[in-house]
Amino acid sequence: MSPAASVKVSLAAGQLWPYYGCMRATRAVIHLENLRFNLRQLREHLARTSPAPAMCVAVKANAYGHGSAEVARVALEEGATHLGVATVAEGAELRAAGIEAPVLLYGLAADEELADLVGARLSPFLADADYARAVASAAQRVGRTVGVHLKIDTGMGRIGCRPQDAVAVAQAVADLPQLSLDGVATHFPVADAADESPTLDQYARFEESVAAIRAAGIAPGTVHAANSGAIIGSPFTWADMVRPGISVYGYYPSDEQTRTLALKPVMEFQSRISFVKQVDAGATISYGMTYRAKRTTRIATIPVGYADGYNRLLSGRAEVLVRDSAAGRSYRAPIAGRVCMDQFMIDLGPDSRARREDEVVLFGPDPAGPNAEEICELLGTIPYEVTCWISRRVPRVYA
Ligand SMILES: *Cc1c(COP(=O)(O)O)cnc(C)c1O
Repeated sequence: MSPAASVKVSLAAGQLWPYYGCMRATRAVIHLENLRFNLRQLREHLARTSPAPAMCVAVKANAYGHGSAEVARVALEEGATHLGVATVAEGAELRAAGIEAPVLLYGLAADEELADLVGARLSPFLADADYARAVASAAQRVGRTVGVHLKIDTGMGRIGCRPQDAVAVAQAVADLPQLSLDGVATHFPVADAADESPTLDQYARFEESVAAIRAAGIAPGTVHAANSGAIIGSPFTWADMVRPGISVYGYYPSDEQTRTLALKPVMEFQSRISFVKQVDAGATISYGMTYRAKRTTRIATIPVGYADGYNRLLSGRAEVLVRDSAAGRSYRAPIAGRVCMDQFMIDLGPDSRARREDEVVLFGPDPAGPNAEEICELLGTIPYEVTCWISRRVPRVYA
């Protein structure tokens, strides 16, 4: 079955493909049924507390490479109430796609972004009175009020005020008529680790700060802290709202946590063989001639390279899943030699019947093939980076 026949093709807005004139064999198929499955798993898990916390789904970085507007729509249908982005442009993109839900801005904006931040009705994190005043004056110029979330640094060391300064910053927000305090938040650096004690300590400090804000007569709004790691491993952190990211896309944040939730990878990075040849023993393959055939074998060329987000460090290390149409079965084949910018080769073995246009899977949900976790382990990184790498040149296809 040709993949074009098996999936309903629709492409994300703003992609490069019209300029290339056509679809490509190489694509990232986004399995929306797996996305829904993961969101439902999370909702069921969160329903263990009553009331269950609300869900703010991270769609930053083009939804970890999956397509932000498409993921946002499904997330909202499956019960998410908020969306999270890292930059003002990412938030504006959601608004341009017609998405009306509250959008939290997890990063801090530069001065020249503040008018657009207000214009796109984003809800920024803030951590000090200076930035609060900058946002408030942009709000005044645009003629709107802005809902903000006070970020308290309990150990991440990225953005956030010190716990002992939380009341003062909350007071500064309360004193600015253009701002309303919609929430108070923190973020965990090791919630995905086996040892829960740093997260327990952080959450205790966070709760104290929230209590102090209340004691000062300021309503904290929505209280939230948990990322995927804390959602999975530390239910005491759930509060009013949780902020899942990687788990929505079907991966655990680390390999240290017990796999209590069944998650399904959403992205399938696939291509089709563009060329097959037989080579003799001793033939070398790709730049640097690092691969030398030990016997007569069949070598296939795959039209994917590091410019598509398939890391060059996978050269000679990774395997792909070959869907051999003539043989009617799938099997793995190793990368032969170096990954080039736009292509790489695999060694099919001497008896393979795989031919041009047969599908290959670089990573995805098929248990027979690699997933992003297998790829990230080969590279010493995390699954987040593997799906984020998939570049704009790769059409996203929603199935
Ligand atoms: C990205 C992000 C999240 C989601 O984290 P995951 O580990 O992907 O679940 C939550 N909160 C903040 C502030 C983030 O930047």
